Amino acid sequence: MRLEHWTNAAEQGALAARNALAAPGTELAELDTIPYFWSDWYGHRLQFVGTPRADEEVTVGPRGPGAIVLYRRGTQLAGVLTIDRPRDIMKFRRLVMEPGSWDEALFQANERVEATV
Ligand SMILES: Cc1cc2nc3c(=O)[nH]c(=O)nc-3n(C[C@H](O)[C@H](O)[C@H](O)COP(=O)(O)OP(=O)(O)OC[C@H]3O[C@@H](n4cnc5c(N)ncnc54)[C@H](O)[C@@H]3O)c2cc1C
Repeated sequence: MRLEHWTNAAEQGALAARNALAAPGTELAELDTIPYFWSDWYGHRLQFVGTPRADEEVTVGPRGPGAIVLYRRGTQLAGVLTIDRPRDIMKFRRLVMEPGSWDEALFQANERVEATV
């Protein structure tokens, strides 16, 4: 998958350096992270973890600043977009790609939105 983000560029650079310096005969490490990026647009912080390739997209909360957008693939959480929720996004990271995590993700997103209303 091609990922044009700062985080991915930094992670790939570190991995390439580690593998280049590995002792001969050592098994080379592979990139094994969940994609993540952030971007600041017009005073708002957008953050995304996982992938938007999904069967369904559900917006919890407002359709704008304060939103948590969940992406479902089957019964699992495939990705999450947050707008102006810098403390929330990483809470979802462990649920991304975890089998059967969709209901838990929906529950957590609703709790977090309600807590900030
Ligand atoms: C307008 C814009 C906004 C972006 N906003 C975001 C964002 O908000 N969030 C996010 O996560 N990502 C963002 N990105 C993407 C992010 O900047 C890139 O994914 C990331 O910089 C890629 O890092 P890199 O090290 O692979 O390449 P680069 O950052 O492109 O670094 C490559 C370097 O190699 C140098 N170089 C090229 N050819 C040679 C050569 N022959 N010899 C020597 N040096 C050479 C270049 O000058 C450059 O300094 C944005 C990109 C653009 C263009």
